[in-house]
Amino acid sequence: MSTCIFCEIVRGAIPSATILTTPNTMAFLDISPVHPGHALIIPKAHHATLWDLPSDLGNELLEAMQTVAGAIRAAMNADGLNVMMNNYRAAGQLVDHAHFHLIPRYEGDGLQLWPQAAYPSPEAMQSAAASIRAALAR
Ligand code: AMP
Ligand code: ZN
Repeated sequence: MSTCIFCEIVRGAIPSATILTTPNTMAFLDISPVHPGHALIIPKAHHATLWDLPSDLGNELLEAMQTVAGAIRAAMNADGLNVMMNNYRAAGQLVDHAHFHLIPRYEGDGLQLWPQAAYPSPEAMQSAAASIRAALAR
């Protein structure tokens, strides 16, 4: 079985700059930050993606995220903060242990997260919404 780097961090086998631990979550600094203070918050248990997370972790995870995000904003004098989660390689997930990025942001820092464009037509937008509603109904 291949080892998971974040599981190794949870069990202390790999060092981390830990910020907060709660019974089922842990937050530590990203080793390669967008800006200093960029942190990752993870479930301590190994779950690969958003859809693998047990829903009963929700309250604890959200509360820990809000606490850590607030502390990052205060400590790093950030003007804003992005919460970001990558799921699967196509979306940039490199570590297959679910994690949320907490990224402090600054006015005028120039970071462009992703290019956006309008739908080619209003019908194309409605069609995308209809497809997603159909998936919800399945
Ligand atoms: P993602 O692309 O969403 O899977 O992000 C994985 C993140 O984990 C990247 O931003 C890495 O810089 C970060 N990372 C990888 N190894 C470590 C480590 N040992 N300690 C802290 N952060 C790490
Ligand atoms: Zn893991």
